[in-house]
Amino acid sequence: MTWNNNREWATGSTRTWRTKRAATLHRDNYTCTIRGRTCTDTATEVDHILGKAEGGTDAASNLRSVCKPCHQTLTSQQAQRGRATRSNKRAPMRHPGLG
Ligand SMILES: [Zn+2]
Repeated sequence: MTWNNNREWATGSTRTWRTKRAATLHRDNYTCTIRGRTCTDTATEVDHILGKAEGGTDAASNLRSVCKPCHQTLTSQQAQRGRATRSNKRAPMRHPGLG
């Protein structure tokens, strides 16, 4: 059944993810780690510190507990950042010598 687990893993909504999610919330004592302006302090969701679109993984070190308002703020900020990156013609700073 290993292959089946792998396929579940790829969908992103799995028993494995639910387990990691619960473990992350437990690790952080169900306390939001962002503490934004509208923070409720109580974490009910789990965020990828480095988004999966940016190469982040489901490793415990890349997961943090967040409350819903903070998560929504974060998600919209990431979306704005993504749009800005795509529409910005100027290349980001690079090491001079690597280009
Ligand atoms: Zn919060």
